[in-house]
Amino acid sequence: MSGAGSKKVAVVAGDGIGPEVVESALAVLDAVGAQFERVPVEIGLARWKRTGQAMSNEDLEGLKECDCILFGAIGTPPDPNYKSALLRIRKELDLYANIRPFQSQDLDFIIVRENTEGLYSGLEEVGVEESHTMRVITRRGSERIAEKACDLAACRRMLTIIHKSNVLRSDRLFLESCRAVAARRGVLSEDMLVDAAAYNLVVNPKRFDVLVTTNLFGDILSDEAAGVIGSLGLCASANLGDARALFEPIHGSAPDIAGKGIANPVGAIRSAAMMMEWLGEPEKARRMEAAVQNALACGAKTPDLGGSCGTADVTRAVVEYLKAF
Ligand code: ATP
Repeated sequence: MSGAGSKKVAVVAGDGIGPEVVESALAVLDAVGAQFERVPVEIGLARWKRTGQAMSNEDLEGLKECDCILFGAIGTPPDPNYKSALLRIRKELDLYANIRPFQSQDLDFIIVRENTEGLYSGLEEVGVEESHTMRVITRRGSERIAEKACDLAACRRMLTIIHKSNVLRSDRLFLESCRAVAARRGVLSEDMLVDAAAYNLVVNPKRFDVLVTTNLFGDILSDEAAGVIGSLGLCASANLGDARALFEPIHGSAPDIAGKGIANPVGAIRSAAMMMEWLGEPEKARRMEAAVQNALACGAKTPDLGGSCGTADVTRAVVEYLKAF
């Protein structure tokens, strides 16, 4: 990549606390000297309320024309036929790898979640008495997510393949494919049933390094991991394809705290740091993470972390550190 200067970033602030945490992330990006063209795109619940549509085909095309997307969070319209706009973006832009790092003072592991198939395939038959959702596992999908996980595990300790192949036969293909990729790449790997992984994440999270798993398991385990780290509000993610990317905090639109000015912006700031890394500016990403860690260490904490700071206070602490160092 040639650096962020000539890049175009779609900014989807979204709903609920999405705009609050995105505003914070943009302020931190300004403070670190990030330069890229910002393209605001309105997608989500507010848009649906205004126009009856959460996202149009033109929006999707617009997103494809940008280098990457900085995303807040979007709410779900109260329409039983609504299909998730975020799932559609992930699918249509083929953002197959959801990378979710979890770091605290004594923990450091990454969940790599397959992002386009599994139980989120969108293949559903919904009836009054009976409903079916198709769980799709393909060799290609499993191998390419395993490759992404091995890219990370190759310079770390170990890969843990999380599955439920004792019950779900589709997971045998996932497990075999991941094992084969890890062996070919020379990455040390083990496997674990998802229920055991859920337990171990609570009782012994230090044992994990890089975890790779299917879509639904990754969704659930990452919220659990966020709880283990301390708060959903701390955690970031990158949704990566081979050429495109979307960066978002792992939390949702949190309507219960929206508009109160108390949302933790750290997950969004860390997502913006992951974006800078992807845009070829690792030094800016490193400085942003250092600024976040310094702000937290100095007690700039929102109520989800037991603090009494607002979103703006935490943002200010991060920005001031970046201006000073
Ligand atoms: P979605 O369906 O979009 O995932 P949700 O309401 O199920 O939305 P979240 O929006 O992630 O899930 O919220 C779960 C809980 O975590 C809520 O109580 C919310 O207030 C809290 N939470 C989420 N993000 C943050 C944040 N950034 N700062 C503080 N609390 C947060």
